[in-house]
Order: sequence, then structure tokens, then C-alpha cells
Amino acid sequence: MRKNIVAGNWKMNKTLQQGIELADEIKNLLTGQKLRCEVVIATPFIHLASVSEVVKGSVIGLAAENCADRFSGAFTGEVSAEMIKSTGATYCIIGHSERRTYYGENFEILKNKVLLALENDLKPIFCIGEYLEERKKNIQNEVVGKQLDGSVFNLAAEDFAKIILAYEPVWAIGTGLTATSEQAQQMHAFIRSLIAEKYGKEIAENTSILYGGSCNPANAAELFSKPDVDGGLIGGASLKAGDFKTIIDAF
Ligand code: PEP
Repeated sequence: MRKNIVAGNWKMNKTLQQGIELADEIKNLLTGQKLRCEVVIATPFIHLASVSEVVKGSVIGLAAENCADRFSGAFTGEVSAEMIKSTGATYCIIGHSERRTYYGENFEILKNKVLLALENDLKPIFCIGEYLEERKKNIQNEVVGKQLDGSVFNLAAEDFAKIILAYEPVWAIGTGLTATSEQAQQMHAFIRSLIAEKYGKEIAENTSILYGGSCNPANAAELFSKPDVDGGLIGGASLKAGDFKTIIDAF
């Protein structure tokens, strides 16, 4: 059966010291709690090694927010999947809309990142989602289908089965606008149907599909109540331990 997952995406927030403090706070809030979902925090690269020590032995999994599209070498400023793995992180967000929009990450680049993450035993949390203009034109299904085709549907079934998907309508990220739970359910069911067509029903049923986009303590329970919504990728609300815990408790 697929897993429910709540993953926090810190983005470019928190100094190293603040990040260690936040991770420690989250760990303390979760210690001894019976959880109905897996919990992951995605931190900036420079936090990974230290936060890895904080969360060691706890229920919290650690993710990078990105990785390089090359294995190693003369790529100044880049951080490879192998380096990420060496910090103790076990997940990697790939294809976040902010990376696609501000850093020109196209289907081909993202395809390489996914392959490198998998080669280095990192679980990709692969993000997909449409812009507002695309939803207004009612082409969101086509857009999301192309994103999957372009970067992950090339994978062999056994590799695709390691991937977590995050549907994040771009118009809902950091805007306070949330997709309704019906909109989320419709898209998640559509994504699952595409996976079933490509890889069969069993893999489709076992793939966790998270929702992301202004998910917060007030709307998480409603979103997570939908049958094809298997959790959330949480930006802003993951920066406060209490809010993040309330979202985790929504399961
Ligand atoms: C995100 O960064 O993936 C995200 C969903 O952000 P927010 O929750 O702030 O909209």
C-alpha cells in the first residue's frame, strides 16, 4: 500500500543555526507520538549534514531541495546527488516549480536529475503542476501529462516505483490560494490513471501523490481526506514547528 507522507520544504529560509533549532523542535514535537504518515523535511544544502545529526534515530526523513544534473566535476556551485546522499539525506525534491521557472530547469535536465538521484539511492519527490493561465485554458491535465512524459515516464517500472510525486499547481504555491480538495482529488486521480496506463494498476496504486500549494493547518485535513491525496508538500507552513505538526496530525 502507498504511504501517506507530509514533507516540509524550507526553500531558501533559515540560517544554519535556525535550521538546527527548527529540526530539533519538530523532532521533539514528534517524539513518542503515534503517526499516521511519514514525515520528511527538505532543507537547503548547507543544513543537510547538521540536520541529519539532529534527526538521526527519529521518525523524520531528510531531503535536499534540489540536486545537480551532472555526476561530478567542474560544475562550480553545484551539489551532486552523491554528495547529498553522503550527508545522510535519503530524499530529494526535483522539479519544483521555482526551479523550473527561475532556473530554467527543463524536462531533459529534470530527467537527468531524477536518474542521478535514483542512482545514488535518493528517493525523488518529483513536482508537477500547471500555471494559472494553463488552468484557465483548462489544459492542466495535458500540462501535467507532458511533465511526467518528459522526465519520469522514461524510467523502468522498478525505478518509477521508488518515486514520490507532488502535484503543486503553481498558482497555489506561496499565494494563499489553495486548490479545492475536489480540484486536488481530480488531478491526483488523473495522474494515477496515467501511471496505471504506463506502469499498470499495482504501481499506480502504490505511488504516493502529495498535494502542495498553500496547504496549512486549516485546510490539510480536508485535502488529506481525499482518496488520491496521500499527503502534502508544505512550504510556508513547514517553517513553524507547531503548524507543521498540526498538518501532520491532520492524518
Ligand atoms: C512548496 O514550496 O512546495 C509549497 C507548496 O509552498 P507553500 O506551501 O508555501 O505554498
